[in-house]
Amino acid sequence: MAIQRPKGTQDHLPDGSPKLGLDTRAAAFHFIRETARRVLERAGAQQIDTPIFEDAEVVKRGVGGSTDIVRKEMFTVYYFGDHGGFILRPEATAGVVRAYLQNGLKQLPAPLKLWLHGPMFRAENVQKGRLRQFHQVDYEVLGSTDPLVDAETISLLVDVVRALGLKQVKVKLGSIGDPEDREAYNAYLRDLFTPHVDRLSDDGRARLERNPMRILDGKAPGDQELIAELGVKPMLDFLGEGARAHFEQVRAYLDAWDVAYDIDPSIVRGLDYYRRTAWELHHEGVGAKSALCGGGRYDGLAQELGSKDPVPGIGWAFGMERLLLAMEADGVVIPESDGPLLYVAALDDANVGHAATVAMTARQVARTEFAYKAMKPGNVFRDAERRRARFVALIGSDEVEQDTLTVKNLATGQQTTVPTRDLLAFLKGQLALTPTPLENA
Ligand code: AMP
Repeated sequence: MAIQRPKGTQDHLPDGSPKLGLDTRAAAFHFIRETARRVLERAGAQQIDTPIFEDAEVVKRGVGGSTDIVRKEMFTVYYFGDHGGFILRPEATAGVVRAYLQNGLKQLPAPLKLWLHGPMFRAENVQKGRLRQFHQVDYEVLGSTDPLVDAETISLLVDVVRALGLKQVKVKLGSIGDPEDREAYNAYLRDLFTPHVDRLSDDGRARLERNPMRILDGKAPGDQELIAELGVKPMLDFLGEGARAHFEQVRAYLDAWDVAYDIDPSIVRGLDYYRRTAWELHHEGVGAKSALCGGGRYDGLAQELGSKDPVPGIGWAFGMERLLLAMEADGVVIPESDGPLLYVAALDDANVGHAATVAMTARQVARTEFAYKAMKPGNVFRDAERRRARFVALIGSDEVEQDTLTVKNLATGQQTTVPTRDLLAFLKGQLALTPTPLENA
């Protein structure tokens, strides 16, 4: 049996591993998650976790039966006696809205801000930035139709990626209107494309029949050529009064907060439950074709999932792997994961147990490791450096006799004698002087 992970998946490895890439560094994922947590929780978001598999119907309704994800990219879960009633989640929104409805989260103060991170699954053609198991940070706001919520949601996305160090990012903003606006737009598109149906790809023809707006979203080059040739009017031209006023309000807030965006009339969302605001986040270093992040308002989704009452919602999700490619392009340096604050070693076999006891006590204050065998001082320092420890405590027979520790600062070389009973206070003092990078963030 080959020792090999499934195609399109990655291991996230500890620092120091051989052949470590930026997007396989566990510390990089940790950095993204913790940065997102800090920014989003300061805005009042609370973490939610949902299962990584959901009822097939939830995924199909939530993502849309006509999308590539549902038609070609689902990982179906089979188990004894079952016939594929579950699907590994390809995105988070459907599960979050399902959880909101099922658990009565409507009782919580609205708008309810939720965030989630975790693996998503799509049976894709594997290529750079396109995996079968990838990881998202997802943010959703439920229970409000206010354009102020839309603007805040977009602004928070920008705050998160800026906190991660990204520079060359661009928000592309659009509106897909209300259902009746889209009906008018689809009628316009149907009239426009039907005389040229022979020139559309198979995919384009299927879309013309089911949902003409999605032709604009298609990837076939011939279809894109036809779109350019026909000079298709954008969805924005078809916004009704309500959707237009909403869009103007969102823009006014973003302008007031200096959140930069470009209006992108080409943003379309083919699914019925999407409403009004839709946007993408792009990065020059990752290429124009692939968005770092997609977001939008989905006021019709809860009813699509079976809710009697409408629950307005809006949210975004970015892929951490794709974000890491962008961070690499922008030269962002992710801090090394911290080593232990203290490394304790005994110089004689008889004192190894005592070193372990000292280390375990020190763990009340900070990460502490100890040597499992007695070592010579030179080897202790070499070992401690490899582990990226900041302090080393040596325990020889003198130290045991006097109940002290010889503590060396590996960065400065300075050596101090610390009474064992003062060790915790000493470590606390050191932590206060130089917090670790993440504590500092
Ligand atoms: P979507 O739900 O398709 O709008 O995807 C949201 C974000 O998830 C994208 O902008 C990417 O950052 C990321 N993403 C989607 N599919 C993949 C994939 N197959 N591999 C890696 N990242 C992905």
